[in-house]
Amino acid sequence: MHQPNDEPRKSVYYRYQVFPPYLPRETEARQKVVIVGAGPVGMTLALLLARYRVPSVILESEVQVSEGSRAIVYTRRSMEILQQAGVARRIAEIGLPWRFGNSYYRGQRVFRMEAPHDEDSRFYPMINLQQQYLEEFLFDEVRRSGLVEVRWGNKLVGLSQRDDGVEARIDTPRGEYTLSTD
Ligand SMILES: Cc1cc2nc3c(=O)[nH]c(=O)nc-3n(C[C@H](O)[C@H](O)[C@H](O)COP(=O)(O)OP(=O)(O)OC[C@H]3O[C@@H](n4cnc5c(N)ncnc54)[C@H](O)[C@@H]3O)c2cc1C
Repeated sequence: MHQPNDEPRKSVYYRYQVFPPYLPRETEARQKVVIVGAGPVGMTLALLLARYRVPSVILESEVQVSEGSRAIVYTRRSMEILQQAGVARRIAEIGLPWRFGNSYYRGQRVFRMEAPHDEDSRFYPMINLQQQYLEEFLFDEVRRSGLVEVRWGNKLVGLSQRDDGVEARIDTPRGEYTLSTD
């Protein structure tokens, strides 16, 4: 039986919220789309599908957003995609934008990176924000969409390909269930 860690992760800058795990029902409705992983990619995909009115279910083995220092800088192109997902404004509000980078060795500058930027640029070339905030904003947007269900504490443990779709085997704190999807 899958038992995700339900102690809030420790962090000096981020307050983790623990979400209740989804527990399987007697009968599970067939799903159009099932996405594995509520990381930045899984949630962005679900939000882009929702723009086309395609509903989805996201399976996430953990019960809280990601741990530690992971993605911290997002490029302009990532921001364009995140704008389609509806979270770019919130990232820009609290993120740190930048366009120059210098590397020093023994007090002397040995490298400088400059990215082009002008008044017509919608986003800075780079913007810094910890991945936990990105995931939180994406999850808020997922909830707002009304078309995406995140199943926290649900770990994909097997897949069977069928002629008409896929059957997913999922482990939860209350045991396994199967979910059919197109
Ligand atoms: C130290 C470090 C620094 C980084 N710095 C940057 C950076 O500065 N900029 C940048 O753009 N990127 C950076 N990255 C990369 C960035 O973190 C990844 O590109 C990003 O997390 C990928 O998103 P994802 O949604 O594909 O995967 P993940 O964020 O890994 O999300 C996958 C999700 O799937 C869940 N999962 C996994 N297996 C299962 C399963 N069987 N069933 C259900 N759920 C499952 C996991 O719990 C997780 O929540 C860094 C990564 C590391 C490790």
